[in-house]
Amino acid sequence: MDGTDRIEIIKGDITKVQVDAIVNAANSSLLGGGGVDGAIHRAGGPVILEECKKIVARQGGCKTGEAVITSGGNLPCSYVIHTVGPIWNGGKKNEEEKLANCYKNSLQLAAEHQVKTIAFPNISTGVYKFPKDLAARISIATVLNFISTGSGIEKVLFVCFEDESFNYLVKELNTQK
Ligand code: ADP
Repeated sequence: MDGTDRIEIIKGDITKVQVDAIVNAANSSLLGGGGVDGAIHRAGGPVILEECKKIVARQGGCKTGEAVITSGGNLPCSYVIHTVGPIWNGGKKNEEEKLANCYKNSLQLAAEHQVKTIAFPNISTGVYKFPKDLAARISIATVLNFISTGSGIEKVLFVCFEDESFNYLVKELNTQK
């Protein structure tokens, strides 16, 4: 089944989009950081960090490729799904598989919470330095694979903060059509 019509790629700020859940490119401490993580905590307010701290107390952070869920605080979304992308290390440390796991596990958690619309940033392509073209290929392929299996997810938005990732994602989605 073709899911390309359920994927949308836009430029913008992920804290502003109207969806059921947004995904955060967090770090394993779950205690906040820079980039998109900082923007989400700033816009969402202290509730999100409080919930993250409870998760840390329960399970001790989040491993690379895994995902946890909190409420959206002051954000327009109901949930924030925090996933930890791999730090690019030359490609020999299972970075590709770990990045795919971020998308898969985030979508799985979303589906378990009856999320219908979800937005992703370009996980790992900022300070974690994952090559943007390869990240685009992995993210489109993984999302398409997941949504074609009938998960209840109706719309997946990629919210790009810069042109390079936007262009790679559009190109990648077009090759899948
Ligand atoms: P990572 O550590 O996973 O690389 P970063 O936050 O450094 O995470 O970068 C991930 C991506 O998020 C980058 O493409 C960056 O440009 C983008 N980004 C930063 N702020 C925002 C935002 N407010 N909305 C959407 N994307 C953002």
